[in-house]
Amino acid sequence: MYFVNILFLTHIFFYWTSVMFYTYIYNQWYDESLYVIKNVLINQFIFTPFLIIPFYFYPQPYSTIHIFWQLPSIIILTDIIFYISHRYFHYNKFLYNNIHIYHHKFDPPIASAALYAHPIEHIFINLLSTVLPMFIVKSNLVVSVIWTIIASVNVVIAHSRTWKNDPHTTHHKYLICNYGAGLLLMDKLLNTYKSENKN
Ligand SMILES: [Zn+2]
Ligand SMILES: [Zn+2]
Repeated sequence: MYFVNILFLTHIFFYWTSVMFYTYIYNQWYDESLYVIKNVLINQFIFTPFLIIPFYFYPQPYSTIHIFWQLPSIIILTDIIFYISHRYFHYNKFLYNNIHIYHHKFDPPIASAALYAHPIEHIFINLLSTVLPMFIVKSNLVVSVIWTIIASVNVVIAHSRTWKNDPHTTHHKYLICNYGAGLLLMDKLLNTYKSENKN
């Protein structure tokens, strides 16, 4: 199971390196930071390891040359899965009030809290949207590691307050727009995209 272990260590390294960068370079240490870090570590070290089960059934991967279509496909598939699951957690009031509300505790968001979430959300929104696409396109270790680095750094940047008009910061502010991740193609397609620039 070295495949999933390497992805896990890559995620841990790049997530926390990015968090340290924003915490110390941009001076983003808050009263809640220690409490938030504890929650994220529980998600990462207690719930993420469950991925070892689906990875037993990982399909025979294609070679690295396929990265040219696999990486764009993974980015689009993650946006689709994240959009649908995330929007449903807003639409269903039970799921919102009991689960997704935890992630929305911080407005504006804070970098270390990028993965601050209820374990159910961690599994069915965060892990599902970033891991299932790898199974669909059958990416190998190299492509999967590159994707893990992009996803781990991107989620921290999206919660870092450093990009003034970041679409995900706008989601935390209004709660009715920008449900997607990355390019937000689904939001643009389904008219839920909101840019603070255009106001
Ligand atoms: Zn968020
Ligand atoms: Zn949300």
